[in-house]
Amino acid sequence: MTAHRRIRVLDPRLANQIAAGEVVERPASVVKELVENAIDAGSRRIEVELESGGARLIRVRDDGSGIGEEDLPLALSRHATSKILSLEELEGVASLGFRGEALASISSVSRLELSSNTSEDPTEGWRVVAEGRQMEPRVSPAPHPRGTSVTVRDLFFNTPARRKFLRTEKTEFGHVEEAFRRQALSRFDIGWTLRHNQKTLHQLKAGDDSVARERRISSLLGKAFLEHALHLDIEASGLRLWGWVGLPTHSRAQADQQYFFVNGRVVRDRLVAHAIRQAYRDVLFHGRHPVFVLYLEVDPSVVDVNVHPTKHEVRFRDGRMVHDFLFSSLHRALGESRAGAQAGPTQ
Ligand code: ADP
Ligand code: MG
Repeated sequence: MTAHRRIRVLDPRLANQIAAGEVVERPASVVKELVENAIDAGSRRIEVELESGGARLIRVRDDGSGIGEEDLPLALSRHATSKILSLEELEGVASLGFRGEALASISSVSRLELSSNTSEDPTEGWRVVAEGRQMEPRVSPAPHPRGTSVTVRDLFFNTPARRKFLRTEKTEFGHVEEAFRRQALSRFDIGWTLRHNQKTLHQLKAGDDSVARERRISSLLGKAFLEHALHLDIEASGLRLWGWVGLPTHSRAQADQQYFFVNGRVVRDRLVAHAIRQAYRDVLFHGRHPVFVLYLEVDPSVVDVNVHPTKHEVRFRDGRMVHDFLFSSLHRALGESRAGAQAGPTQ
């Protein structure tokens, strides 16, 4: 029998560490959260830099709106956000973040330093440092161009059980690169850089016309992707689906080139997956997987993004309608491509 113990409210830093278990699994999750913040800040350029797969260092720099001096300590506290104020706002939320948990969680399991400047004067700026659970954030002046840099060192230094779950540098970097790819595909109008151990691996110019988009797709997914893909753009009953779907002849053994975005947020959703599988059912060999980069645009109020802390899942108010729209759009596009192919080389 265990002895009776009084109930107590958890120390906030400990509560953060526990919450970190949900959102901070590995370096890639840190990158995802920091980049989402950079996107929400209206950045035009985002640079991601890592050392040792991110276990030693993760740095995300942006040229967004910045955080004011008075808000800096708050940015690191739990349930502190500038993005929503009410339940009504949550229902129509257009920003990627809204839970106010990422920075609090990350800083509770790493050595975090955040520098920011809201003005155009590069001699201004402030820095806040937090380290694990022991330290209260300290704010000091530090010049920084307009925007924000967050540096996360020694992830899980104070939670050895979690650190043990980190894989090799190569594996962790692979996950980071995949997170980067998703985010770079989600916003063509932002310029991106990814560096690992001082080497630049991706440098993507901003550009939202079709040439620039296709250039980015090729550079992130390889030239073969577009050579065997159809472009589509379909709108019906308040829904718009656009992007590229691979021809059935270009299927893969693994489901590794499948990107689906709902209002700019990368999503893995059973309903979506089912609709796409159905559309390819008759044209794909068993066990093969289609490739696609698809963007679904819907009114924010018809989709609930507050389903899971990592926000990878969504719930549609009218799932049936979304499913049918996806299925029929893809089914028709793929059917037309087959009809075209059968009509012979003159088409
Ligand atoms: P959330 O994104 O859910 O609001 P976070 O913990 O990720 O919560 O961030 C807390 C707050 O810090 C944000 O609401 C935002 O005001 C500010 N912030 C974080 N990162 C940035 C950034 N790169 N640029 C500007 N503001 C930021
Ligand atoms: Mg956030």
